[in-house]
Amino acid sequence: MAKPKVYVTRIIPEPGLKILREAGLEIELHESKEWPPKREELIEKVRDKDALLCLLTDKIDAEVMDAAPNLKVISTYSVGFDHIDVEEATKRGIYVTHTPGVLTDAVAELTVGLILSICRRILEADKVIRTGQWNKPWNPFFLTGMELKGKTLGIVGFGRIGRAVAKKMSGFEMRILYYDVRRDEKAEKELGAQYADLETLLKESDIVSLHVPLTKQTYHMIGEKELKLMKPTAYLINTARGAVVDTEALVRALKEGWIAGAALDVFEQEPLPPDHPLTKLENVVLTPHIGSATVEARSRMAELAAKNLVAVLKGEMPPALVNPEVLKVRPLEKVKML
Ligand code: NAD
Repeated sequence: MAKPKVYVTRIIPEPGLKILREAGLEIELHESKEWPPKREELIEKVRDKDALLCLLTDKIDAEVMDAAPNLKVISTYSVGFDHIDVEEATKRGIYVTHTPGVLTDAVAELTVGLILSICRRILEADKVIRTGQWNKPWNPFFLTGMELKGKTLGIVGFGRIGRAVAKKMSGFEMRILYYDVRRDEKAEKELGAQYADLETLLKESDIVSLHVPLTKQTYHMIGEKELKLMKPTAYLINTARGAVVDTEALVRALKEGWIAGAALDVFEQEPLPPDHPLTKLENVVLTPHIGSATVEARSRMAELAAKNLVAVLKGEMPPALVNPEVLKVRPLEKVKML
């Protein structure tokens, strides 16, 4: 039997590539750590492929799928799958898989870091020293920030990452509110969190941290109206997806003091241009989409993405399937090649 052909759109950590090689696949690798394939190249390369291992920088839509009549599985090296048209994939009997869980702690840890950075003005303080502005003796009002103890943390999206943030933040002795489409009473008890509707959460929280996936429903979920509901002393943290927040409204909120500040890892436009209005504001902490950027998480993501892909080609249930409805469209035994 011919070897199944897979296109991998970027060099990923070795543990993932090893799994693909050992499964006996014919691998075509886009030989770059930094740059995704151009759109035309992606479309050309998938033509004869049975499997695709992609990143969140690759837009996988109907056009790409139309170009790849043999495609059985799209395995993304990410937990978010808003870059893939899952509905189109399901229609065509293509399995879509992702990497949940293995990056939860990395993203939650960064979120804690962003909360502390913005509330205690760590980046501003660092800059003060480097630019020679630490030129007066200690004073009681210099670079004062917001203490966390006793304040309210509002978590929007109480899934894997949202719950992990609640767990990691519990040591700070904050009141924790959460909003989600699904209420989780077990997690509420375990994590000492209280359910609130979005409006209440926005009105009562001192920190609002976003952890919803980007969907039609969550697109610009935080816009002018929502930002105006927040306290003028509150901070917004976004490590979910840029388009969950209306950036234009956020810039106005930060300039006009509807809220005190924001810490952002994700943006509607990535990379964020260096002259973007957000970069001109002091009350903002910016990181370049590094939520899952630990050596450990990136390596586990590579393993899971590869395992998902190989499982489908073996006709086995992949560890993390996005579209279980596909099982009815094209059962696993029909995609088995290994
Ligand atoms: P998850 O599926 O476990 O959790 C998402 C939660 O959001 C679920 O509980 C779901 O019920 C809730 N939700 C969905 N739609 C909602 C809506 N309209 N209103 C309220 N709640 C809603 O996902 P996760 O593993 O916690 O990841 C969350 C998101 O974080 C991912 O989808 C991804 O976009 C983002 N992420 C970012 C980075 C980064 O590098 N910054 C890394 C990993 C994940």
